[in-house]
Amino acid sequence: MPFLRSFFIAMSRNRTLRSLSERSVVGRRMSSRFVAGMEIDDALRVAQAVNQQGMAVTLDSLGESVTSQIEAHQAAEVYHRLLDAIAAQKLVANISVKLTQMGLELSPQLAETIAQGLAEHAARSGNFVRIDMEDSSLTQVTLDIVRRLHARPDLRGAIGTVIQAYLYRSEADIEQLLADSIRVRLCKGAYKEPVEVAFARKKDVDANYVRLSQMLLDSGVYHALATHDEAMIASAKSFAKQRGINPSQFEFQMLYGVRRDLQRNLVRDGFKVRVYVPFGREWYPYFMRRLAERPANVLFLARNFFRA
Ligand SMILES: Cc1cc2nc3c(=O)[nH]c(=O)nc-3n(C[C@H](O)[C@H](O)[C@H](O)COP(=O)(O)OP(=O)(O)OC[C@H]3O[C@@H](n4cnc5c(N)ncnc54)[C@H](O)[C@@H]3O)c2cc1C
Repeated sequence: MPFLRSFFIAMSRNRTLRSLSERSVVGRRMSSRFVAGMEIDDALRVAQAVNQQGMAVTLDSLGESVTSQIEAHQAAEVYHRLLDAIAAQKLVANISVKLTQMGLELSPQLAETIAQGLAEHAARSGNFVRIDMEDSSLTQVTLDIVRRLHARPDLRGAIGTVIQAYLYRSEADIEQLLADSIRVRLCKGAYKEPVEVAFARKKDVDANYVRLSQMLLDSGVYHALATHDEAMIASAKSFAKQRGINPSQFEFQMLYGVRRDLQRNLVRDGFKVRVYVPFGREWYPYFMRRLAERPANVLFLARNFFRA
């Protein structure tokens, strides 16, 4: 399995396959397993349907590692339109943004200025921007940008980020973020990282996830636990119960198209759930990371493909 994980993560970075797949009808049809659609309206329709099932949404306009300033501004424009649409349609939704889509690899200053514009827009409309976390070469610069923006009084509470339990540094990062009351989404981590920076064994990642989730739950700040792992969820539920932490003080997050049964059960049991809804034409790297997490998804997709 570790071999398949590495294989799909390597595939996620293959530019030729990416451009071929993103243009192919077959590829698009396969991607619909995890992607809400190609257009903003598709995402808004899905958001509304998810809201009707009692769950909140975070919208992700797919794309990463842009290669020009113009592309970065175009990507930001989609998010500005989303924030307006969320307000106009009164959706229970916020946005999830990758800084490499906002030009981080071209210029950190460019990405920070764009993120600032989005956080200002979110703050004006009482909304929230989550800065997704990418690979470990970008952890520090991402956290620095989030902390600087959050330190501005007008943006306090309007911007938060993601911490990955597989990184050794995450406990120290959480301590710093908590000192500033910054909202965190805790996930296990979706990239291929070297042993110098990240736990390699699932058992160690899981143990760290439990430890970090307890730090977050105990903090009094509203955080998100992003996982489909039933053991992680059970551990968080029992810790919250033991500490008298009300289910309204945190949320679980899951990906669109993954473990809908768990999502429904949590809502039924009175927990808050937010679904991460990605959309757009640049679905390939996101899709490959989902296959890396669960290679059995390939069989599932193949079965459905031949059935269709
Ligand atoms: C809302 C949300 C936001 C995220 N944001 C980020 C981010 O910013 N940066 C980042 O690095 N990672 C992010 N991730 C991905 C995360 O890091 C993991 O790669 C992913 O969630 C799988 O880990 P897991 O906790 O579900 O546990 P795992 O141990 O990987 O899986 C546990 C079980 O969950 C189910 N499962 C997990 N993944 C899948 C899948 N793709 N398809 C079908 N079933 C699956 C399977 O039943 C599996 O046995 C995010 C995840 C979520 C849910």
